[in-house]
Amino acid sequence: MGRSSKDKRDIYYRLAKEEGWRARSAFKLLHLDEEFNLFKGNIFILQVVEVFTCVNRAVDLCAAPGSWSQVLSRKLRGKDKIEEVKIVAVDLQAMAPLPGVTQIQGDITKISTAQEIIRHFEGQPADLVVCDGAPDVTGLHDVDEYIQAQLLLAALNITTHVLKPGGNFVAKIFRGKDVTLLYSQLKIFFTSVTCAKPRSSRNSSIEAFVVCQNYTPPEGYIPNMSNPLLDHSYGNFHQYSKYTFPFQEGHFFSFPDVDFNQLEGPNRIIVPFLACGDLSAFDSDRTYPLQLDSSKEYQYLPPTQPPIRPPYQQACELRKNNLLAKEDSPSGSLDHALTTLHL
Ligand code: SAM
Repeated sequence: MGRSSKDKRDIYYRLAKEEGWRARSAFKLLHLDEEFNLFKGNIFILQVVEVFTCVNRAVDLCAAPGSWSQVLSRKLRGKDKIEEVKIVAVDLQAMAPLPGVTQIQGDITKISTAQEIIRHFEGQPADLVVCDGAPDVTGLHDVDEYIQAQLLLAALNITTHVLKPGGNFVAKIFRGKDVTLLYSQLKIFFTSVTCAKPRSSRNSSIEAFVVCQNYTPPEGYIPNMSNPLLDHSYGNFHQYSKYTFPFQEGHFFSFPDVDFNQLEGPNRIIVPFLACGDLSAFDSDRTYPLQLDSSKEYQYLPPTQPPIRPPYQQACELRKNNLLAKEDSPSGSLDHALTTLHL
């Protein structure tokens, strides 16, 4: 396979390099913004004129390698707003620096990360939180959906600590079989929840994005970092109720084989689904010819930002030093290789 073959197979990968984005995911956030005006904040009517609130403080959860942070940086920091706009990006992995973006190398499941974000905003809450978090997929669909749901709930938890009332939250979601319960959880905190599929997200992928607008926590809600949905050991509570389910301690019950998609009445939440991105946009599932524009010759471009500390670095080092484990070789053990390389 030549190095240009990915350019041919994945048009958004190629466009990302041409436009200087670190990853093709940048287009997903751009397509979501086209539909929801995320970077303008919320709309309200003032004497028949539509007015948008400002987005000055934004948080990018699970941000590496940083294409969503690039989008936030380019879209929010106009010439006159460089001082005002603050963007905080969080990821387990280190990320190359970006203008106007403060980085936290941390875990979104930790309260200390929420506290650090708030510190960067000098005690002010965020206007927008986005999260493109994804675990390393295993290929076992149930496991992947479960872990993705955990990450989304962690993102929601951290959001309840940092987002201002009226603010918006966008997060990646896997539309698996228990997705209805996640929608219900989100609807407790936001007046509007939409499941959106940007054109740059492959149809063949289970991935979509929840766009949650107008943060309105239930009265008396105290943010915490516990994850009751996935910790199936709640107290003894028989009725699903919109505001006690399942966030208040002591009111939880266990879910013996509950089919969350069969929830009824106010507990069954069906959110609108929206395919977004103009139909004229490229189709992410199609293979395009290398020469898209007959007036221009195709030219291979390297990725905008090579990974700074990729997880496969250790394997590359081992291979370079011919230390990859071989059958029946006394020096073939990983321990031996790592000791030799002082890793
Ligand atoms: N939005 C990014 C961009 O545009 O460049 C791509 C994000 S990538 C699909 C998913 C990221 O989630 C990975 O960088 C991974 O390290 C991060 N992640 C997964 N679990 C995390 C956690 N618990 N805390 C922080 N980051 C996490």
